[in-house]
Amino acid sequence: MTERRATNITAFESHVLRDERLKLLDQRGCTIWLTGLSASGKSTTAFELERALIRRGQLAYVLDGDNVRHGLCQDLGFSMADREENIRRIGEVARLFTDVGLITITSFISPYRIHRDQARAIHQASRLEFFEVFIDAPLAVCESRDPKGLYKKARAGELKGMTGVDDPYEAPVNPELVIKTADVRQAEAAEMIIQALEARKIVPPRA
Ligand code: ADP
Repeated sequence: MTERRATNITAFESHVLRDERLKLLDQRGCTIWLTGLSASGKSTTAFELERALIRRGQLAYVLDGDNVRHGLCQDLGFSMADREENIRRIGEVARLFTDVGLITITSFISPYRIHRDQARAIHQASRLEFFEVFIDAPLAVCESRDPKGLYKKARAGELKGMTGVDDPYEAPVNPELVIKTADVRQAEAAEMIIQALEARKIVPPRA
């Protein structure tokens, strides 16, 4: 667990109710947490979903692994402690965005169940929707895609701690949705998420 260093801090209550913000946006926020191996299709699905939601008039935003590691988490590497802190920060940012009323799509390997569960727990504590999607592709399929050449490097011993090769990936036990990207076309993956969100009334049905 990350140590809390700040002392003598008191949280201020906002003067507006969450409902007032949501009325302004005409939508309810939620966090859609995509998890899966590298090259399983998280980013492709996340950005496709963002585009589809924006086109139907809903404010959505992607927090993507590599982008976040260029800024918010540029001080973090891939050790267990750094992976935990990376996911903790993403979870907190997602919680804030979702509290604003955004449909927040996170695209991170997030290999450890306990870290994902912590992200879920802080959402639940704030009474915010958390929707975990397992982007599920067999390691062999991910390796054959290898768009960034990372698996090749890991197999050659040039990259240590690659999830699925010499670092673990703990698949979700009870995710809200599983998408098998080896069987589903790219455009369909985003559509599956939208249908699941509609079914749970997280987003309104299409006009
Ligand atoms: P990740 O973000 O999980 O590392 P990417 O989104 O970068 O993965 O996708 C890796 C590769 O998998 C890309 O080349 C992409 O075209 C392919 N891909 C993604 N989703 C699908 C899908 N549903 N069906 C087939 N190929 C896919």
